[in-house]
Amino acid sequence: MDTKLALIQGDITRVDADAIVNAANSSLLGGGGVDGAIHRAAGPELLAECRELRGCAPGQAKLTKGYRLPARHVIHTVGPVWRGGGQGEAATLARCYQSALAIVEARGFRSVAFPSISTGVYRFPIDRASAIALRELHAGLERLPFLEKVTVVLFSQADLETYVRALAALTSSRGAGNV
Ligand code: ADP
Repeated sequence: MDTKLALIQGDITRVDADAIVNAANSSLLGGGGVDGAIHRAAGPELLAECRELRGCAPGQAKLTKGYRLPARHVIHTVGPVWRGGGQGEAATLARCYQSALAIVEARGFRSVAFPSISTGVYRFPIDRASAIALRELHAGLERLPFLEKVTVVLFSQADLETYVRALAALTSSRGAGNV
């Protein structure tokens, strides 16, 4: 089990880290769910900086400052809308995690927190999304030795339990001690 990877239940806007990740929509101009919560907590300066970014395609990621958040930065990524699984949704979701981690790498961030991207309004089934998320985050931790802490912040107890099961499955598929 990777001690640098933590699964917690809570509100990502309260997390102190070099960066938190926002599950944004492609306009980057705010929305519901975690996106709305991040904009409310960060204050209007975040929206002003997001306007300059001119949107973001699904699977890509863009960086802003964190303003009034405890986190220093926000990495905005746009997950896929679930359309049954035949439209490349799994690959796009994996790219969200990869793109966010590429920013972590470029900036040398030592701590980052992720929400469960696409599993709210975008309806990606969380059992599949959790396996993709944890696979990509584990790969990132293996690749980036300076990264000390990756936290996945789950909003509900049920979501946390799904991620705990997915992490156990990932750990056992790789053999004890190797994850
Ligand atoms: P998407 O459009 O990518 O599906 P949502 O914001 O609708 O994004 O949902 C993504 C996940 O974020 C859901 O599991 C939702 O419960 C969760 N969520 C909502 N608010 C917060 C928050 N403040 N902190 C952490 N997770 C949150």
